[in-house]
Amino acid sequence: MNTDHLLHIDRQHLWHPYSSLTDPAPVYPVARARGVHIELADGRVLVDGMSSWWAALHGYNHPRLNAAAAAQLQHMSHVMFGGFTHEPAVRLAEGLLTVLPPGLDKIFYADSGSVAVEVAMKMALQYQQALNETVRTRFAAIRAGYHGDTWHAMSVCDPVTGMHGLFSGSLPVQYFLPQPPVRFDEDWDEAAAAPLADLFARHGHELAALILEPVVQGAGGMYFYHPHYLQAARALCDEYGVLLIFDEIATGFGRTGKLFACEHAQVVPDIMCIGKALTGGYLTLSATITHARVADTVCGGAAACFMHGPTFMANPLACAVAAESLALLLENDWAAQVRAIEAQLRQELAPAADMAAVREVRVLGAIGVVEMREPVNMRRLQPRFVEHGVWVRPFGKLVYVMPPFIIRPDELTRLTRGLLAALKDEYGG
Ligand code: PMP
Repeated sequence: MNTDHLLHIDRQHLWHPYSSLTDPAPVYPVARARGVHIELADGRVLVDGMSSWWAALHGYNHPRLNAAAAAQLQHMSHVMFGGFTHEPAVRLAEGLLTVLPPGLDKIFYADSGSVAVEVAMKMALQYQQALNETVRTRFAAIRAGYHGDTWHAMSVCDPVTGMHGLFSGSLPVQYFLPQPPVRFDEDWDEAAAAPLADLFARHGHELAALILEPVVQGAGGMYFYHPHYLQAARALCDEYGVLLIFDEIATGFGRTGKLFACEHAQVVPDIMCIGKALTGGYLTLSATITHARVADTVCGGAAACFMHGPTFMANPLACAVAAESLALLLENDWAAQVRAIEAQLRQELAPAADMAAVREVRVLGAIGVVEMREPVNMRRLQPRFVEHGVWVRPFGKLVYVMPPFIIRPDELTRLTRGLLAALKDEYGG
């Protein structure tokens, strides 16, 4: 298709994420992508720093994932999950059961991360209702958290960046905890859990669940906090009869240096959400996973079943690719890949800390963050990254990379050099 035509139709008719249709920011037509490279329609090739928002662990156009999709297409792309089951759903479940935290073995497949969070919150409410705990209708969450864009998921996102004000009166009102003050690499201080204990003392009886992103808060601030916070949360949830939900949609599948971020703390939640990298970034698929006690209680309640059932539940094409992606991840020695990326990001992003416009550089696992002092001017900065041959998409004050795990050291150097060069162009030394 002619690029001018493509851009014209796009501009007139297509909404992009968090964008204006009347004054849209420029978008770049992509022709193809392979490995860690994204090729634009004009022939320029960019090193991918985003893994398409935490998802493309193995890079793009991977022969094994392509083959899994093609093979599944010969059988069926989709069939309803009501009344049917199929090998891709079961194969993926078997794979997940080998890696999930102990005891989490009841899997609900859903369509996207946001829906997985909705499912988790609904599950918690049905659990409490089944126990006759009818006053437990509220959720606790952490400020600067992000859990998705659908209704209940949005209610537990940070009230400011989640723009609760826009929807006030319609959104359920939840309880918010301050961001855990002790960072990942600092010494733990018990006082950091005091607001948690205080909230539970005052409102524990109203809470159905506490939901949080373990260790790494993603879209709400790319903030890395101390794993001990999760242990405090686990103990308080147990004491007050509150379920603990971990949103591992961004952190799952190795990104933080552990297969799941909760392993940094050896804490197992009651309900866990996964998505994004589940299919290696090929197709949308998520899962909400719980243990037998929650599942048995929910199914023993008045409804006698769990009241959710999306049309594309357990989509066979997505499940087949996800099963292959998980197999590939485990074969690839992902831990060594992530450790190598972490060491290289620490070294190569460090010079950014000397720039006056930069507040802090931080790295955990295969996540590198350059936090600026002021929000970036996206319309100016984005083309600078492209000019330097890298795909980096900042938000607010955060310029960050989370490349595919398969990135080679020389490709990662191109990425970090391009990032630093674009920042220098924009802000000076
Ligand atoms: N939870 C977290 C932690 C996320 O990072 C995201 C996506 N950025 C979501 C939930 C929502 O996932 P989706 O965009 O697939 O609905």
